[in-house]
Amino acid sequence: MTTKPQPKPWIAQIHAYQPGASHAASGAPLVKLSANENPLGSSPAALAALAMPHIAADYPDPDARALRETIAAVHGLDPDRIVCGAGSGELLQCAVQAVAGPGDEVVFSRYSFSLYPLLAHRVGAVPVFADDAAYAASVDNLIAAVTPNTKVVLLDNPNNPVGTFLPPAEVARLHAGLPPQVLLVVDEAYAEYVDLAHQHAAFDLAAAYDNVLVTRTFSKAYGLASERVGWATGAPELIDLINRLRGAFNVSTSGQKAAIAALGDQDFVATSRACNAAERARFCDAVAALGNHGLSASPSEANFVLVHFGGDVTAPAALTALADAGYAVRHLPGQGLPDALRITIGTADAMTRVIAALRTLCGEPA
Ligand SMILES: *Cc1c(COP(=O)(O)O)cnc(C)c1O
Repeated sequence: MTTKPQPKPWIAQIHAYQPGASHAASGAPLVKLSANENPLGSSPAALAALAMPHIAADYPDPDARALRETIAAVHGLDPDRIVCGAGSGELLQCAVQAVAGPGDEVVFSRYSFSLYPLLAHRVGAVPVFADDAAYAASVDNLIAAVTPNTKVVLLDNPNNPVGTFLPPAEVARLHAGLPPQVLLVVDEAYAEYVDLAHQHAAFDLAAAYDNVLVTRTFSKAYGLASERVGWATGAPELIDLINRLRGAFNVSTSGQKAAIAALGDQDFVATSRACNAAERARFCDAVAALGNHGLSASPSEANFVLVHFGGDVTAPAALTALADAGYAVRHLPGQGLPDALRITIGTADAMTRVIAALRTLCGEPA
């Protein structure tokens, strides 16, 4: 007879989500280039909204109506086809939970958001890793990984941790290759960093088909990761399912207010995109210049770059050198990337120091 509560076997085998590091092995605090946060911070308008008093004793608006209406106005969407979440992570979990259970399969590309296998295991489903193409998601391999047991395909676009982006035509081809009963979730956590011309395509897919859900977040370009606000758009039936599963008062009053104010400051988003693009290009050039030492960067349309170490300088050595320089970056050996580091694009000053540390490690003049 057992003397303690026993977890479900599929829960017993999983670990808690592992966030990016913020401290050196010595315990010293580091500048975080490990969690893809916005190095510019938050919009002043969002910070002003957060400074405004609210009645903390009262529950927040359970339906986040004003926030959904603001999102709808900014993106040209129907507020009734939007649901808000405690970060997009909550909505991704609800989407998987709504359609997948024990024995079902959840398909995603081999190198994808580390949360995805956990989402499958949390509901007893089987995570299925589709083969990548040079680390990026492969539409053909994703379609080939679908079986009669597949309930949902998760596509982070841009991808985390690789940074690659599938253009709208490829996402449409993926959707066209899926059976209509398979849910396609397009996780657009980094959408604000991609080409403006490509930012609306997934919304159009979600408006046209019953089996497409698109998620967005305020955690990255909007610089509000601490407030835990995300949202999703899709067919009314999908939104209804998520509303049944999400926390009843899942987005705090301060989160709703900050997100509304942040949506009103698109200049901040544009500045974030421009600074990121400039520093990302400079960083990728610097990595390319170390190509003779085995370094290379995956092409990125996000606010981070996956740097591969294929020579004498190893990823663990670079991880240590960057920590010694004061920067935490992400090493993901558990995701099958022992020879790479995911480095968030920080401020210009941070990137100058990161480049100098890598050059010094390679024996080149900083
Ligand atoms: C950061 C990130 C998210 C956002 O998570 P939140 O819960 O909204 O903070 C979602 N998907 C991917 C791929 C991410 O990298």
